[in-house]
Amino acid sequence: MKTKTLSIHGLHNKKYSGNKELTPPINQTATFYFDSINDAEQTFDCKNDQYVYSRGRNPNLEELEDKITLLEEGAFAVSFSSGMGAITTLLMSLLKSGDSLISHNVIYGSSHNLIENILPKYGITTKMIDLRLIDNELIGDVKVIYLETPANPTLDIIDILELRKKVGEEVIIIVDNTFATPILQQPLLKGADFVVHSATKYIGGHGDAIGGLVVGKNKEFEPTLRFGYMCEFGTAMAPFNAWLFNRGLKTLEYRMKGHCKNAMEIATYLEGHNKVQKVYYPGLPTFEGYETAKKQMKDFGGMISFEIKGAELDAVNLVNNLKLFKIAVSLGDTESLVEIPAKMTHRGLNINPSLIRLAVGLEDLEDLLEDLKQGLEII
Ligand SMILES: *Cc1c(COP(=O)(O)O)cnc(C)c1O
Repeated sequence: MKTKTLSIHGLHNKKYSGNKELTPPINQTATFYFDSINDAEQTFDCKNDQYVYSRGRNPNLEELEDKITLLEEGAFAVSFSSGMGAITTLLMSLLKSGDSLISHNVIYGSSHNLIENILPKYGITTKMIDLRLIDNELIGDVKVIYLETPANPTLDIIDILELRKKVGEEVIIIVDNTFATPILQQPLLKGADFVVHSATKYIGGHGDAIGGLVVGKNKEFEPTLRFGYMCEFGTAMAPFNAWLFNRGLKTLEYRMKGHCKNAMEIATYLEGHNKVQKVYYPGLPTFEGYETAKKQMKDFGGMISFEIKGAELDAVNLVNNLKLFKIAVSLGDTESLVEIPAKMTHRGLNINPSLIRLAVGLEDLEDLLEDLKQGLEII
């Protein structure tokens, strides 16, 4: 089946809709009861697939996990309370004291903090470098490589296939696929071992729930991640949020088409504007990562960053004067959002203080262009 069908129907498992509901009900329950102790013991021994407790498994979460596994063409998925819950739990499940991790040097602010400041407290050596320039000598004895492509907020593009070739088969590669979604790229098919998502963004798509996902290539790792770590850390997703993400997934491909189309037009407009210094968008032939993005992605996504000619204050004034683009962190929503990463999501992380990040929404393109035009006229 193709992605549009998969994201609507998933596995169509009758476990999710016991009464043939077209939309599975929300399984808002903490626990599940057994008919006998023998029955319970069988479940604890993993000899049947009954549910026990919603911190480990729940039908709404399972429906979401099955769908994202299909879309990413992985072997299993686990849902989490947030994108950061997914990333923290996955990294802690893979690394122990004495191990070493390398990450690309431009990533989401909280992931950056986790890798640079928190993991080292537990004896894990971490290094943040430009993964586009990596060669074998730089790698050394590394266990995990972590990256985003396109990266937040500079949209750096990292060639996953090329990276896998360079580092060999032993290193575990994790790709945060939040910006692209499985509709635009499938990192597991390019050599990654794990994909992580902030489902809060495009998968949910409506800015109304926080959640995260990990998709793995190797089914054998599922019990370790799910019961060994997620369940013990308590980073489980809420059933209602899973229900919202299942709903979001149904329109993901159509929404991504709209985000990509609007973003391409806006990036082209900005690039041609005399007050704009530089546009960061993977779909522009002038952009550094363009050739790799063209090869690796089906389309270029809804995220754009840009710098204007002029001072930091002009960037602030421009953003303050936008009307449709709301000043907010997050992305992937129907509403267009704008932020200045150095002042918000990426404070203290060596990002140009004048860089403006747009999360292009699904409003009419003409209205969005009009808003940017009037904003740029003021400065
Ligand atoms: C938002 C985001 C995260 C964190 O996700 P939450 O759901 O907010 O915890 C991680 N990675 C990227 C690329 C993000 O944009």
